[in-house]
Amino acid sequence: MFGFCIKVYGCQMNVYDGDKIRTAMILKGWREVPETDADVVVYVGCSIRDKAEHKIWSEMGRYRPGWEGKKSPIVCLVGCMAQNVGRDMMKRFPWIRMIAGPRSIGFIPDGLIRAVSGERVDLLDADAREFNDLDVVPIKRDNPWKAYVTIAHGCDYFCTYCIVPYVRGRFMSRDSEEILEEIRALVDDGVREISLLGQNVDTYGADFDRSYRFADLLRDVAETDGVDLVRFMTSYPKDLTADVVSVMAEYPKICPGINLPIQSGSDRILKSMNRHYSIAEYTETVRIIREGLPEVGLTSDLIVGFPGETEEDFMASMEAVRQFRFDLVHTAAYSPRAGTPAAKMEDQLPDEEKFRRLSEINRLQSSIAMEINEATVGRRYRILIDGPAPKGDGLVQGRTMTDKVVICPGEASWAGRFADVKIVRAENWCLHGEISEVEGLS
Ligand code: SAM
Ligand code: SF4
Repeated sequence: MFGFCIKVYGCQMNVYDGDKIRTAMILKGWREVPETDADVVVYVGCSIRDKAEHKIWSEMGRYRPGWEGKKSPIVCLVGCMAQNVGRDMMKRFPWIRMIAGPRSIGFIPDGLIRAVSGERVDLLDADAREFNDLDVVPIKRDNPWKAYVTIAHGCDYFCTYCIVPYVRGRFMSRDSEEILEEIRALVDDGVREISLLGQNVDTYGADFDRSYRFADLLRDVAETDGVDLVRFMTSYPKDLTADVVSVMAEYPKICPGINLPIQSGSDRILKSMNRHYSIAEYTETVRIIREGLPEVGLTSDLIVGFPGETEEDFMASMEAVRQFRFDLVHTAAYSPRAGTPAAKMEDQLPDEEKFRRLSEINRLQSSIAMEINEATVGRRYRILIDGPAPKGDGLVQGRTMTDKVVICPGEASWAGRFADVKIVRAENWCLHGEISEVEGLS
């Protein structure tokens, strides 16, 4: 039987797709092996920014003759990056024998079998309005007690900088019963924490004939026996509704954490980005959230150096970061993506200017995060222990309900249990705590 290895880059949706592909191949009798023993290496690649694509382009060269592995593996590139540049890559690297976009995931197991028998397989021609899903519950995950569940595919918003609608296709909600069935199967497999994924979770159900929306799904997931924690991402500012906030307030097991990408603090730039809200409307959404969920962990995404962004626009983004006091901001320098409207706009900023703005806004956000995190010292939280902390022997880590990483002295065997921790020290990206009690051990 063939040995395969999966390498995932990019967002949680790619992790979820990678888990499904891994599970499907294991169910077909393939073995997951280290890369150097693999007959097939599957890349699930991201195309959101240049940097993500460059990383995989540069990795591809490694498989040329003289490669350190025991076999000469064939390479399969799947996901957003394959949809975007898969054909160019296949021309350049003869060992890439299969390319498949995110909407063809259901065809991947058969495609891989064809690829190992010598065929060159191109699955990029899927209709952007169709989705061929892989009919498996992703039971082969890195973390046994946490699972991602995609609730909607694609996106119809076409922000002018973003490649997602072109590579992931049109917005399509998954059937709620199918989602709940998958969650029940995951719970049977030991999962305690479910993270619901969608480019804009709040538009969930907008394409249904019946009136069943994200708030209804959230309630149904929270009511599912065995689910202990529910998280979700991402929320589009215009669509996040007060009823979602009320359901979150009603169910303690729904973590009060919201990722509400602002993208810019300037109305002029938001318009040019084709984001359908103003800063005044964003402010009102944040007010509703903070009023309904006083303990909320609020995070955001923000792009600096968008075409035409003046110093004044940038200062408006700095002001927004000061005003909203996010717990964390995923900042990025604008990266032109071929085929998107923004890539053709005039007034593209030089890289040095984008990176100057990026480091300035990162410095500001980091000092705000430090202040917020320092205020948690002395407080107690309940966390689900993920496992050993990546750095440091004898340390474990988990996350607060508001999605802050907590690192504590502890034993790896406590992974998958809830623990009560007291915060003793803060950094801008994590908290350090002491565990007073671990569930099931006394
Ligand atoms: N759907 C979410 C929303 O509407 O905000 C975000 C999803 S997008 C996959 C994740 C983040 O990548 C975006 O919030 C944006 O900040 C960043 N991003 C997307 N395209 C980008 C680009 N061309 N350059 C820099 N950052 C980009
Ligand atoms: Fe991209 Fe905009 Fe869709 Fe988010 S809403 S995925 S940023 S197009």
